[in-house]
Amino acid sequence: MKIHEYQAREIMARAGVPFSRGRVATTPEEVEIIGKEFGVPVVVKAQVHVGGRGKAGGVKIAKSPEEAKQVASQMLGMNLKGLIVKKVLVSECIDIASEAYLGVIVDRKSKRPVMMVSGAGGVEIEEVAKQTPEKIHKLTIDPLFGLRSFEARDLSFKLYSDGAIAAKATKVLQQLYQVFLSCDASLVEINPFVTTPKGEAIALDAKINIDDNALSRRPDIEALRDLEEEVPAEVKARKKDLTFIRLEGNIGCVVNGAGLAMATMDLVKLYGGEPANFLDIGGSSNPEKVTTAMEIILEDQNVKAILFNIFGGITRCDDVANGLVESLSKREVRVPIVIRLAGTNEEKGRQILAKSRIVSAVSMSEAVKKVVALAQEGREAR
Ligand code: GDP
Ligand code: MN
Repeated sequence: MKIHEYQAREIMARAGVPFSRGRVATTPEEVEIIGKEFGVPVVVKAQVHVGGRGKAGGVKIAKSPEEAKQVASQMLGMNLKGLIVKKVLVSECIDIASEAYLGVIVDRKSKRPVMMVSGAGGVEIEEVAKQTPEKIHKLTIDPLFGLRSFEARDLSFKLYSDGAIAAKATKVLQQLYQVFLSCDASLVEINPFVTTPKGEAIALDAKINIDDNALSRRPDIEALRDLEEEVPAEVKARKKDLTFIRLEGNIGCVVNGAGLAMATMDLVKLYGGEPANFLDIGGSSNPEKVTTAMEIILEDQNVKAILFNIFGGITRCDDVANGLVESLSKREVRVPIVIRLAGTNEEKGRQILAKSRIVSAVSMSEAVKKVVALAQEGREAR
């Protein structure tokens, strides 16, 4: 789950990270008032769940409260990489002497948190990572020991030769790791972490991504969710306890179990198709879950064919078949559907579907081959 910069700032500030002063606003008038209160040039920053706002016109410096109001009236309501800006953060504009990148991510290879820092922070950090990876210093953290102070010190001296600034950065790195742990984050980032000509060290941006699997034990963090920033179909799926992720292809997939869902998507690709989604209807799928799954998939105009791949264990094939029949009776479905039912009550399931126009297959590869061919026809028919 993503949260907004202003929310991430609040969490990090509570852990002790120094930030430029900032406040959220939803109207240009509020922005002007905040500008007057801060009494200095301010930065107006779009609060949307996308990275690289600076380059996309979502971060603007204003020299006066009037200009801030003007900037905000253009920014509020604008479309930034597909999302509409509804809030802006107004922060006091800091003089920058140097910009660094500080971050912690979960590294899949080492299965540990990895802290990354770079003296080449700012809006070009992705380019730095690509072109000059040697400018990014990495430390794999042993979760048992945590980030030890000598390690944090070592990393900050890679960024700063000035001892006083390095000491401040050391503290921030430790606070950042604390935030990473305490939020069950999958990523925490400060970019840029700046020094000023006066020798201060301040964070100007904050990003925290939360591990979705931890949210059930973190209602306080779940409360920070901004549904308007998320893919509507994914929000709807989550409400019904379905795991759904939209993808780019044209074959809708309804599968029970995450492992089978991934294997199904692999097979779709192997036979030359492209999945339109990942969808796991879960273990005990009642007919309602199936109808919801169909609704969600059919909202996607790209979908040219649908594949059901059900391995009945706790899931009963007749439940799935009933759900499917019900959704077909509720609405006209124009795209072809292929189903493979195996396991608990598969015979019953097939009987229920016998009268429908659903294409049935016995093996997984047969089902996938069929659906790939049907999706192909559907595309050509357009
Ligand atoms: P992002 O592009 O979404 O990562 O947004 P940031 O908050 O990181 O802002 C982008 C860039 O704007 C930063 O890298 C800075 O160079 C610049 N910026 C942001 N805040 C300030 C500020 O207070 N003072 C100055 N001088 N520049 C700022
Ligand atoms: Mn940034």
